[in-house]
Amino acid sequence: MINTRVRIKELFQKDFVGKSVTVMGWVRTFRNNQFIALNDGSTNTNLQVVLELNKYDDLLLKRITTSAAIKVEGLVVESLGKGQKIEIKTNSIEIFGDSDAEKYPLQPKKHSLEFLRENAHLRFRTSTFGSVFRIRHSLAFAIHQFFYEKGFVHIHTPIITASDAEGAGEMFKVTALPFDKTPRCEDGSVNFKEDFFGRATNLTVSGQLEGELAATALGEIYTFGPTFRAENSNTARHLAEFWMIEPEMAFCDLEDNMNLAEEFIKYIIKHAIDFNREDLDFLATRLADEEKALPQDKRSEMGLIEKLEFVLNNSFERITYSEAIEILKESNYNKKKKFNYPITGFGMDLQSEHERYLVEKHFKKPVILRDYPKEIKAFYMRQNDDGKTVAAMDILAPGIGEIVGGSQREERLENLETRMKEMNIPEKELWWYLDTRKFGTVPHAGFGLGFERMVQFVTGMTNIRDVIAFPRTPKNAEF
Ligand code: ATP
Ligand code: MN
Repeated sequence: MINTRVRIKELFQKDFVGKSVTVMGWVRTFRNNQFIALNDGSTNTNLQVVLELNKYDDLLLKRITTSAAIKVEGLVVESLGKGQKIEIKTNSIEIFGDSDAEKYPLQPKKHSLEFLRENAHLRFRTSTFGSVFRIRHSLAFAIHQFFYEKGFVHIHTPIITASDAEGAGEMFKVTALPFDKTPRCEDGSVNFKEDFFGRATNLTVSGQLEGELAATALGEIYTFGPTFRAENSNTARHLAEFWMIEPEMAFCDLEDNMNLAEEFIKYIIKHAIDFNREDLDFLATRLADEEKALPQDKRSEMGLIEKLEFVLNNSFERITYSEAIEILKESNYNKKKKFNYPITGFGMDLQSEHERYLVEKHFKKPVILRDYPKEIKAFYMRQNDDGKTVAAMDILAPGIGEIVGGSQREERLENLETRMKEMNIPEKELWWYLDTRKFGTVPHAGFGLGFERMVQFVTGMTNIRDVIAFPRTPKNAEF
């Protein structure tokens, strides 16, 4: 057994002064042949390890380099130095693994996020990514806790799916057919009958349809799983593989849905503020530093923590899509032709620049848009009485844009079937979905929250590639 270590986080939290302990971790820096800054991943703060002068031979000292993995035994003492309460006076040092300073890609200095993306296998070892991934973990836990407290059932929906009718995005095909000698039908098309599942399959873009099946029996459910979109969007908020949380509730309308989504987002933020303060403080400083390089008008008006507290303490603005179009049409931005996509009126799809205008310039807080034109939304959304709109809602967050997309679902069989015909969605592929409307149908609603966008919002990271360990984006699947 080797694991006799105390985690560094625990050392800082409890009173260990006067006790001998063993710590294990990776060297961040070593200066004056005397001071090691040691990190073991449990906290952002490095532990200062103090070596008695002349106690260790040169050969060992030379091996204490950035990222070397070491074991230290020593006495916890109060620190006289600035910046830390305690430090360790070493008794012994053992090296688990050397790290050749000449070859180790990360130097003990600031690296650009782009550079670290190319070294995603090592970026966990930086302070920034340590904080991001501890927060990401913590938020995932908070999400399960939120639904657990509310009595929702966690459902694992399939990752491989045969339904391609949902229309949420381009899909990745899943096949076991050989690329050469692909079996063909008489008309020349691929014969998927010979494929593994006996039909064409894809990676899921959403667990919603299956989630509805579960919700119309279990009452309230949620999914939390990976989703895939083969869309070629090279933006700072799109991934080809991302994680989505999708609650689905029976006996719920659009308003219940919006209420839950707002409460949910606030719960997650509060959890981060309560339990990840140290990492948040670090990232807040990082963000402020990063923004210093920007022109004044591009900088955030609030610091990261201030922003989170602001969102927590204010209700989200709720307006209809039509009201949003009016606001945008009347805006100076539009009149001065500052939008790349001009505001043409009801029916247009809102671009990210429009969403960001509403949130960042006009309301300066999260906005829930509801009642979108049915033409730009999915077939399953509940048709409003006006005949033009559906009971959809999107939540837009400052700096991110859309963070939640949801709706009340069309529970009336006839309406659903009519809409599916209008949109050329084959009923026979979704027979199982329609069954829920035939047997005990019920008003129900749900939404999808993009987990990475939520993590972006909480951590202040501006690129979505920096909040998932190994991002999958067009032309990029290294690691
Ligand atoms: P967008 O307009 O931003 O592309 P969308 O309308 O395609 O989003 P939905 O299909 O409603 O999004 O998905 C639900 C949620 O999943 C979104 O609100 C967003 O938080 C997240 N999301 C969607 N696409 C992506 C993506 N490619 N990468 C990361 N998160 C995503
Ligand atoms: Mn999209």
